[in-house]
Amino acid sequence: MKMFAIFGNPVAHSKSPLMHNLAFRAFGYDACYGRYRLEEGSALKERFFELSLSGINITVPHKEHAYRACDHLDPFAKKVGAVNTIVERGGALMGFNTDAPGFLKVLGEFGPNRRVLFLGAGGTALSSAAILRDNGYDVSIANRSAPRLQQFAKEGFETLLYDEMEGTEDYEIVVNMTSAGLDDDSLPMDAERLEKILQRAEAAIDVIYGKKTPFISLAKSLGKTVKDGSQMLLYQGILAFDIFTEGRFSFDEIERVMRRAFIL
Ligand code: NDP
Repeated sequence: MKMFAIFGNPVAHSKSPLMHNLAFRAFGYDACYGRYRLEEGSALKERFFELSLSGINITVPHKEHAYRACDHLDPFAKKVGAVNTIVERGGALMGFNTDAPGFLKVLGEFGPNRRVLFLGAGGTALSSAAILRDNGYDVSIANRSAPRLQQFAKEGFETLLYDEMEGTEDYEIVVNMTSAGLDDDSLPMDAERLEKILQRAEAAIDVIYGKKTPFISLAKSLGKTVKDGSQMLLYQGILAFDIFTEGRFSFDEIERVMRRAFIL
């Protein structure tokens, strides 16, 4: 039996074991998926082999360690510098990024070539911005502080500091890519400015899942179409499952069985 797991800290809340185990069982694939609270990111590779794993997903705060732990990288993971899926191949670790293609698929439902504003400039924003731009979206990045914006500016994205925004800029889709609202009840930026930005937008997406964040509540109160991060989670999981099982099952087949994790 092949063993897979999610590495993170904390991991107790993760839906990934349920998602993958439902799919392994539905397909009669001889594997199971657990969770492992990894305290030291630098020990990732050692733990992977000690636990005799075939593959892992990696969640906060270890995605950068995951990137560094890989012996080989898929071209997209290499380009964006972030890894959330690793498999063992011939004794070496091969890294992939399925978060960004998962997010691209979520945005696809809003139609092509949209003007998108990201609030937040972390690793998820960086990989998602790259894939959106490659697929024809116009992406601007806003953040509360300057340092993380530098990388985006270097890559040629429009970057803005919250304090410099007037709320009169036009974006069709506004995305909360920060962790504001994850463990607290905070908005990613001050309510007044955010309200102005959302007023002019069509839809709001939060990458946080499993709770109604203040960002989603505000957008909803303004009558906007809203979406939380559960669909992104589902899609990144389907793409990771496809890697774990080496392309044996179609996206739609995997989606049908994994979706059940969100009603259980
Ligand atoms: P990072 O830690 O790399 O980036 C965090 C970003 O959020 C930074 O821009 C930071 O600003 C900003 N930020 C943090 N706290 C606040 C706050 N209170 N107010 C305003 N800005 C804040 O995080 P990741 O990119 O790894 O993850 C971002 C989010 O995406 C997380 O909530 C994570 O759970 C979620 N996620 C969801 C997935 C899904 O499948 N649904 C998949 C992957 C991630 P600064 O630079 O100023 O510090």
